[in-house]
Amino acid sequence: MGIGWVARQKRTHLFSSLARSGDEATVTRYDISVRTDVEQGRLEATAILVLKALAPGVTRHCFVLNKGLEVSAVVVDGRRLETRETELADAPGLKAVWVYLPESLEEGREVRLTFVYGGRPAGGRWASIEEGGLRLSRRSAWYPVGAGFDSFTARVSCATFPGMLGVTDGDLVSSSETEGQAVYVWETREPISGLALTAGRFTLERATHKGLELDLYLGPRLAERASEVMELFRRVIDAYISMLGEPEARRFAVVLRRQYPGDEHLVRLVAALAHETAHIWWGSPISVGFGDTWFHEALARAMAYETVGRVLGDEARAALIHEEIDRYAADSAVGSGGEESVLSWAKSRVLDAPRHVCIRSALVLRLVHHTLGSEAFFETLRRHVAMYRAKPSGLGEFVKIAERVSGKPVDGLIRQWLGTTASFAYEIRGARCSPKPGGGFVTKFSLVNTGDAVGPVQADVLLAGGEWQTREKVTLTGRDQVLMICTKHPVRCIVLDPDVYLPNRSWKRCKVSLASDMTP
Ligand SMILES: [Zn+2]
Repeated sequence: MGIGWVARQKRTHLFSSLARSGDEATVTRYDISVRTDVEQGRLEATAILVLKALAPGVTRHCFVLNKGLEVSAVVVDGRRLETRETELADAPGLKAVWVYLPESLEEGREVRLTFVYGGRPAGGRWASIEEGGLRLSRRSAWYPVGAGFDSFTARVSCATFPGMLGVTDGDLVSSSETEGQAVYVWETREPISGLALTAGRFTLERATHKGLELDLYLGPRLAERASEVMELFRRVIDAYISMLGEPEARRFAVVLRRQYPGDEHLVRLVAALAHETAHIWWGSPISVGFGDTWFHEALARAMAYETVGRVLGDEARAALIHEEIDRYAADSAVGSGGEESVLSWAKSRVLDAPRHVCIRSALVLRLVHHTLGSEAFFETLRRHVAMYRAKPSGLGEFVKIAERVSGKPVDGLIRQWLGTTASFAYEIRGARCSPKPGGGFVTKFSLVNTGDAVGPVQADVLLAGGEWQTREKVTLTGRDQVLMICTKHPVRCIVLDPDVYLPNRSWKRCKVSLASDMTP
């Protein structure tokens, strides 16, 4: 009997010191009743779990739990079990809880364990306790994790203060509010690999759209704009249906907490909705299975660029991608690993990719989109989703499908951009427009490569003057080039790559106003 791939992969990465224990048994079911005190950042819980032996004669098992939580009892059939806790060198903030079974468990047999525990979860990347609520990710181990992340079904009853919401994975099957508390019950019928928990002042906004159920959990700052956010969510879903076709999932739930400042608000909000929606297809328990988590994050980012363009227009998309290019430049300059290529980073098999790895990969996916054309790019995405639902898949499979669909050497493109740390930075300099003898105009300019990316890339150049525009295709050769482009109209401004397909670090200086000696 084997363990699900999700569990196996995550065991290896996250809890390698427990690899042996993790192979002997797995949790197949959780029934958790948790009471959260959002103000104190505390929780009290009883977790009943079904542990199944995967090897003969299992006598003990190791669970992983957040360091801030104390186990007061582990019980089987009314019998209190012996436990022992140890440090976890490879997972800060978490601890190992060894449970000694009353009798050895034969292969394939199950035992029901009841954990009673509580406390204030230790913070860090996976657990945040703040004014707005308590947010515990899958990896915070807010419940006893079966040493890896198992493949299980679950029912979670979350009690919190009246007026607050408790959100975890799965479907909300019931909710009730009395004077003393609000209780939300969640059920996961399809096996999943981990449970997150969020409790706080959220407002639930629900709608049905094209036969799909849309749930939005909105933080206090967003609650007053609930109908506006829901309208954006509908448009995001429409964009996804047009890109990927009818979804398998019939219910889409997104938790949003942040309100973004002023102008950025709309773009960030749509980007956040689009990113989370992408995980319905990639990187969640009901989507394409986990292979390379970083690649699924990159896909979610790239899908967000695309969706922002479809929902808010090309200018908003350009603004978002420029922001991402700047973020990437800042991260890779200061962050660790900025000198390492994405592909060599990926070999390290670290589970959580730094942001610059995800952004560079997302920008390269946009370049792949540019190279293949929209039709082949989206056909690739649709096939990837159809072929790998609930199966592990990452970059490798995606590239194979893209090559089959397009007939183009996508692998080479990926190596060129993800196998190096090459910096793509092209500037337009010294542009000058003059009238041509016999009519029309000619614009002469230099394309200067200030980065270290080499190899040819196709790019559009937009030459604009007043209400006229001309688009030309140019090949960026990697060397500095001088170009002359003829137009029927005078040119006042040149934009390299107006649709922002290229990860051009010098995008800010692409616009050039012309000092013209022409008489208009
Ligand atoms: Zn994500």
